[in-house]
Amino acid sequence: MPYLLFRGLLHTATACILLLLTACAEAPAQSLASAPTTAPAAPAASPAVTAVVAVASPLLSFEEWRGLLRSDAIAAGIDAELFDRAFAGISLDPKVIAADSSQPEFTRPIWDYIDGALSVTRVAQGRLLKAQHRPTLKAIRSTYAVDHEVLIAIWGLESNFGSNIGEHNVIRSLATLAYDGRRQAFWRSQLLAALQILQAGDNSVQGLIGSWAGAMGQTQFMPTTFNQHAVDFDGDGRRDLWHSAPDALASAAHYLQASGWENGQPWGFEVSLPQGFDYALADPEVRRSLAQWRALGVNSLETVDAHEQSQATLFLPAGHRGPAFLLLNNFRSILKYNNSTAYALAIGLLSDALDGNAGVQAAWPRDDRQLGRSERIELQELLASKGYQPGPADGIIGANTRKAVRAFQQSLGLPADGYPSHELLQQLR
Ligand code: CA
Repeated sequence: MPYLLFRGLLHTATACILLLLTACAEAPAQSLASAPTTAPAAPAASPAVTAVVAVASPLLSFEEWRGLLRSDAIAAGIDAELFDRAFAGISLDPKVIAADSSQPEFTRPIWDYIDGALSVTRVAQGRLLKAQHRPTLKAIRSTYAVDHEVLIAIWGLESNFGSNIGEHNVIRSLATLAYDGRRQAFWRSQLLAALQILQAGDNSVQGLIGSWAGAMGQTQFMPTTFNQHAVDFDGDGRRDLWHSAPDALASAAHYLQASGWENGQPWGFEVSLPQGFDYALADPEVRRSLAQWRALGVNSLETVDAHEQSQATLFLPAGHRGPAFLLLNNFRSILKYNNSTAYALAIGLLSDALDGNAGVQAAWPRDDRQLGRSERIELQELLASKGYQPGPADGIIGANTRKAVRAFQQSLGLPADGYPSHELLQQLR
């Protein structure tokens, strides 16, 4: 199953654990493909009705629940005939329920994820496609002011350049999640948005396929994202993210533009840190201008064309033993597309590789043993028992756990990078 996606909004739990990143974010676990995140939009149906259904659905049969949904969908402007066609033969999908409740013990280290994202094959194919689609990419840049490389990189990681778009019936997946999953109101709004896509004629009932979590097409847009950002760029009258590369690339550009993309500016770049550097500065909450970072001895490894006054944060994805990056505004735009620092870093590095860059220069700490989920929970429990405040013991390394780790490191005079290493767990024990 190539589309086990771990979405930020509902899988923050799965997500943050995956790569133990400094920013609490989700990350693709079993596939490089991942769905863009979408703010949980208000359901199209009236809030009162939604509230009743959201609370009552465990007590209702699927058929009873579907009946209530049908009334709400019709009230929201969906044709009854279309609703019935879309739901013909639809039953709950046990695979979707299993994927939604999956909490894997072990996850890939970030260097494995980056290696996969920047495989020789992917970079070569991306360069070829960038050349092939140059006229389209130029037209997209004229319209949306988004660089070529980042669009090709998103295309590559979301769907392997359109070759992996998922094969789940989106209505069935979303109905399963809206009826049975966590965050039912969110899924319900996605389901109604999917019906609106059918109603708009962008795809047929049979053609509406995607990931198990309802992410669709070559850009893996969730339905609400689709309705906000998908565009018909090839002019055939349909927003066809499943079959049209121009539509997919332009839709990604439209989304990035709305997320504040600055054309021609880097996403960030690798840096070196001076001896005795205060690692506590490597925190998403600590922002400095590039000029200020340079004054602290943080230097880019290569010539970088970025504004001196641009605000940047310092990112150590594998702690102080691994590579360091300064992250700029465009990195935050990629995070709006998919709220995973590992994903955004992979997109940035792949964009650079498509532009001929050699890749990460510092070595990853590949000998580091990653903490499993139960070990992360133990780490949080031990930190709490020693008077730190890591937040709930849920195995998710978020901002609170990172702060607690940092404080514990400082108490021992260790580099305070906030990174929960196996060595640190042993010291806590
Ligand atoms: Ca089109």
